[in-house]
Amino acid sequence: MELTEIKNPTFGACRGGMCEKHGAFVSKCGGFGEWTDCPRCLERDVTCEKHGTFVSEHLFPSETYACWTRCQKCAEEERLKSQETQKRQMREQHIASLVRAASIPDRFYPKTLADYKTTTDGERVALSVAKNYVEEFADHLAAARCLVFCGCLGTGKTHLACAIAKSLAQSGRPTRYFTVQELIRSLRATWGRPTSEASETESRLLQRLGALELLVLDEVGVQFGTEAERTQLTEVMDLRYRDMKPTLVVSNCEREELKKYLGDRIVDRLRENGGKFVIFDWPSRRV
Ligand SMILES: [Zn+2]
Ligand SMILES: [Zn+2]
Repeated sequence: MELTEIKNPTFGACRGGMCEKHGAFVSKCGGFGEWTDCPRCLERDVTCEKHGTFVSEHLFPSETYACWTRCQKCAEEERLKSQETQKRQMREQHIASLVRAASIPDRFYPKTLADYKTTTDGERVALSVAKNYVEEFADHLAAARCLVFCGCLGTGKTHLACAIAKSLAQSGRPTRYFTVQELIRSLRATWGRPTSEASETESRLLQRLGALELLVLDEVGVQFGTEAERTQLTEVMDLRYRDMKPTLVVSNCEREELKKYLGDRIVDRLRENGGKFVIFDWPSRRV
């Protein structure tokens, strides 16, 4: 072995080395005047149970350490796996935040489409419309196709509407449940602040409402409300329409009452592009 001498070497200093078998190599100073030998002379064949034989290198080619490189394929597999785990965790966090943001009432939160028991034809139709709305949502969204559940109290309208919203949120789609009263309250909560700030906040809320892939509006027409309330509701419905986003309207009113409450123009829009009215006209399911 030929070596170029370095005077007073410090730890990590390098010098050229020459191995009879493998030729030139870089020799490092390990301190205490100790220099590393030809790294290739220190290689050895190791067998990985999964990937077969590979060359393991002495990682710190000095006498003081015995550290050998592991199977690179195993290392790469582990790296990819941990990357995937990280991605999955991020996705799960994102989904959990979408489900939280959907604001489904506690009473309906655990309910799913599968929980919706059907005994009458009407219930079976309602369930199949709800299932189709979730399964084909990409199409319904593209067509801004709305859905209206209206009819008697206790027939499971809110159950189905919440199950739709939750399923969509779980598949990564931003949705939000509101009763009309909650919606009006949220909009009004942005008032009473300094004008410039308030208008900005209200417009931000409207912007968020416009960005939702599905807005569920429950208890539409529970009470006729003031003219101002109806104006606000109309504003939100117009915004959704303009932004080509669907709304699921839930109401205890009959169709004609709903027309009176929302106005012909909005009801017509709810039916556009094949928007469905599902009439819940069977007896109450609540015992
Ligand atoms: Zn060598
Ligand atoms: Zn391996």
